[in-house]
Order: sequence, then structure tokens, then C-alpha cells
Amino acid sequence: MYNYKNVDINLLQGDITKLEVDAIVNAANNTLLGGGGVDGAIHRAGGREILEQCKKLGGCPTGEARITVAGDLPARYVIHTVGPKYKIDKNKEVFLKSAYTNSLNLADDYKLDSIAFPSISTGVYGYPIMEAVDIALQALGEKIDSGTNLKKINFILFSEEDFNVYKEAFDKKLL
Ligand code: ADP
Repeated sequence: MYNYKNVDINLLQGDITKLEVDAIVNAANNTLLGGGGVDGAIHRAGGREILEQCKKLGGCPTGEARITVAGDLPARYVIHTVGPKYKIDKNKEVFLKSAYTNSLNLADDYKLDSIAFPSISTGVYGYPIMEAVDIALQALGEKIDSGTNLKKINFILFSEEDFNVYKEAFDKKLL
């Protein structure tokens, strides 16, 4: 557990669909109609209510974020954001950072206390996790510096390997 300016920052390893937080973030695609990886896991565990709301949103541009209910999940909301595809998108650093920042801003709009992020873009979208973690930390730091209602910000990594990459970067920046 880390703390920066009175915000608790947690690193976890496991499955984001199990977390009892105000919002979990989904690494979605532009259609918001479901996909593989964490997106598939969230829709499978959350049930059809999430997909029903997603259908009404008409997609989401890369780097932006949208919010829905969380259906059968223990979380209250799902914030769907779309990270860049590493090999295809230009300005990928900008888009990855804004995916994090816009998700955090949306959580603040809803006055949420807690949020959990997966590692956006580092699965199928191919972003190297060692580069991605620095961008996640930048977005996190800037958001907290500019003021947030959030009390607890969690990052959950699916694999032990990814967890260790995050831990090293977080230790360097936040300890
Ligand atoms: P993207 O398309 O943005 O790359 P992916 O879902 O393919 O998204 O991968 C993003 C990250 O989410 C990967 O590190 C993957 O291991 C991880 N992941 C997959 N399933 C889960 C889950 N249930 N909980 C947390 N993280 C997950």
C-alpha cells in the first residue's frame, strides 16, 4: 500500500471482476460491445445489464471513457475506457494517459471513493507494460496533484510478472 497526498494507492494481483470497489475500469474497445481479455471477463461476470447500457452509448473514441452500471459484479459501476493499439495508433502515449485521466475524472464526476484499474492496452493491444506503467503513474500523479475526491485507487494485475513490473515502478516513484 502506498499513500500520496492522502490518497491510498494499492497494488493487487488477481481478477478485477471480484473487487468490491465503487468502480472498476474496463479496457474496452471502440464499440463497447465486449471483446476478449478483461473486457470479456467483465461482461461474462457482470451479465447482460452492462451490455444493454453499452449498446445505448454508441461506442467510445480511443482515450475517452464512459460509465455504466456493474450488473452482477460486486462493484457499483464499470468505467469503460479505450486504450491505444501500440503498433497502430499514433500519439499512443497521449491516448494511454488520457484513458487513465478520463477514467479518474469520470469517477470524480460521480463522487466515487474507490476505483480499480487493470493494465490498459498491455494485453491484446500490445503496449509494453514497462512503458505503460510509467504513463499510468504520470496520470495518477497529475490527477492527485490537481485534486480528487477519490480515497483509494487500486491497480490490479492479472499475472505475477505484470504485478512485479508495476511494483518496481511504484516503489521507485511512490516510496
Ligand atoms: P487491451 O486490449 O487494452 O490490451 P486486454 O484485456 O487484452 O486489454 O489486457 C489488458 C490487461 O488485462 C492484460 O494485462 C491482461 O492480462 C489483464 N486481464 C485480463 N483479464 C483480467 C481480469 N479478469 N482482471 C484483471 N486483469 C485482467
